[in-house]
Amino acid sequence: MIPYGRQEVTQDDIDAVVDVMKSDFLTQGPEVERFERAFADEVQAQYAVASNSATSSLHLAYLALGIGPGDIVWTPPISFVSTANAARMCGADVDFVDVDPDTQCMSADALRDKLIVAKSAGTLPKLVVPVHFTGRSCDMAAISELGGEYNFRIVEDAAHAIGAAYQSKPVGACEYSDIAVFSLHPVKIITTGEGGMATTNDADLASRMATLRTHGVTRDPDVVTGPIPGDWYYEQHELGFNYRMTDMQAALGTSQIKRLGDYIQGRRAIAARYDKLLAELPLFRPPVETNDLSAWHLYVIRLTDDAIPRAQVFAELRKRGIGVQVHYIPVHTQPYYAELGFTSGDMPISEDYYERAISLPMFPTLTKTDQDTVVETLSDILASD
Ligand SMILES: *Cc1c(COP(=O)(O)O)cnc(C)c1O
Repeated sequence: MIPYGRQEVTQDDIDAVVDVMKSDFLTQGPEVERFERAFADEVQAQYAVASNSATSSLHLAYLALGIGPGDIVWTPPISFVSTANAARMCGADVDFVDVDPDTQCMSADALRDKLIVAKSAGTLPKLVVPVHFTGRSCDMAAISELGGEYNFRIVEDAAHAIGAAYQSKPVGACEYSDIAVFSLHPVKIITTGEGGMATTNDADLASRMATLRTHGVTRDPDVVTGPIPGDWYYEQHELGFNYRMTDMQAALGTSQIKRLGDYIQGRRAIAARYDKLLAELPLFRPPVETNDLSAWHLYVIRLTDDAIPRAQVFAELRKRGIGVQVHYIPVHTQPYYAELGFTSGDMPISEDYYERAISLPMFPTLTKTDQDTVVETLSDILASD
């Protein structure tokens, strides 16, 4: 089976992890700090806070921004469930903004329309979380302008987008947001096994996320309120979590991030080659890149109206050894969200996209031969219509 995504682990990666295993620190220690520094530098942000997953980092980011019961958080339906779930984990309410029909990123137009309605209904969001779907940045300038007008905060779900650029700056520089969150799951661009990273230029947000990551406990003499009786002393001021990354994971991350540029180049070349090889097939390809550089986490094709049903094409591809996937089932149609009152029909563009989407194999070590096999198999299936 040619998988849809695959990590690469080199001997250097393995050596870096083994070195840590022989050192004094296994859990969060100097390697986490080193990785955070490397990550922040890479995306040109002032601060980076590591955690054990992007889901944890989203939770920390929302909490640091003060999201809690009674608040409303808006996300797009085309995302992994974590984007919306993290708001529920804070006790907040979730609502959805439909996506752009070409990029499947949150549509700034749909956002504006929904804000106008929400303003008169008194249901404005405190936080909006655009998702850089497939690694392509959303229109952050437009979303940020609306943030100023309607007074909401912005977290970028950049789980797909390390290595991407928006207006010539790396995604994660937070030019138009409060915090950006990245995933280091093996299927993403670089990996720490499991892991997440939040970047920001706000020292208070960084410090709040770091405290909440480790039980809400602090030793900071500027923060503790009581007299400090000795070096053992710490205080807990709010409810936090154990969301720490291990030093072994961080060492893997620091080793992986060195290859980020090569990975993005490799993914970009594969996307360009798919564009060429698929040009004559009756399907929609991803929109061509603008000036903004995509990280190409995913290459998603969409079937046309007169094609064989998606489920059939998908099953046939899998049967013939092509490990395709579907990203994503619209979150508002999940039984958990249906229970909260959302129904099919609420987000027509997301739902129509979902009916026709297939993610093709996309990872930097995908060989040309394997890519040719993917295209020939797909071509054969579509022609059998
Ligand atoms: C993968 C992913 C997440 C969750 O990442 P984890 O590190 O697995 O928690 C969140 N949002 C999006 C868009 C993702 O693709």
